[in-house]
Amino acid sequence: MLELDRVISGYGSSRALHEVSLTVPRGSLVTVLGANGAGKSTLLRVASGLLPIWGGDIKMDGRWMTRKSTREIVRAGVVHCPEGRQIFSQLTVYENLQMGGYLRDDRKAAKRSMDQVFSYFPRLKERVKQRAGTLSGGEQQMLAIGRSLMASPRLLMLDEPSLGIAPKLVQEILGILGFIQEEGTAVLLVEQNARLALQHADYAYVLDLGRVVMEGAGSTLAKDSRIEERYFGAR
Ligand code: ATP
Repeated sequence: MLELDRVISGYGSSRALHEVSLTVPRGSLVTVLGANGAGKSTLLRVASGLLPIWGGDIKMDGRWMTRKSTREIVRAGVVHCPEGRQIFSQLTVYENLQMGGYLRDDRKAAKRSMDQVFSYFPRLKERVKQRAGTLSGGEQQMLAIGRSLMASPRLLMLDEPSLGIAPKLVQEILGILGFIQEEGTAVLLVEQNARLALQHADYAYVLDLGRVVMEGAGSTLAKDSRIEERYFGAR
């Protein structure tokens, strides 16, 4: 569904991605692993149109996405849930969710999406009128994912959802990604917590200094001693 073909990008004059190729098949969960600074967030920024692409191509369902605007990319079904959550802390849970559906004209469909978000995250429903800034870290992460789901993505790109969250809530959130997948939404998950990500991933890529250095089925990489040495126990 999403295809990155030898993508190059970076900041100023310094390259952060060197010919990265990656595929996310329809309905799958693909993870991108790597240490700090490996280029994981950069990859998601390029795929969502936030950062210009210097070389290579991006396609969604066979259609060129290279150099499309973020708005067009969202309309094509690709939604990015950024690192650090970036929710609007002064707004309520409800208002934050509404913001996620801003590109939709169909109110009934937006209502259905919100009901679905509440079915995944009942905690959000209980706190619907609460200001987002007063939620716990894990709840804020749920809200950030919920807000992304309001755009009815066919591909949800998640940047480090486990960051700064209690382990129990991390498991809960990753478990819910399984339900989201069952509803037909593919997930591209960026994680530093390799062990956790590989438990859930169909396929995984390992980035190092902006290059793909390893890839394979999640279950295969989970048993790979090189992954264990380098990336397990990072947390
Ligand atoms: P982290 O988990 O720390 O976010 P990452 O794998 O997501 O790591 P990136 O944030 O994509 O890595 O960073 C890749 C490279 O790009 C690093 O060398 C980083 O210093 C550089 N970089 C990232 N963001 C910027 C920016 N806004 N301006 C300049 N350089 C940046």
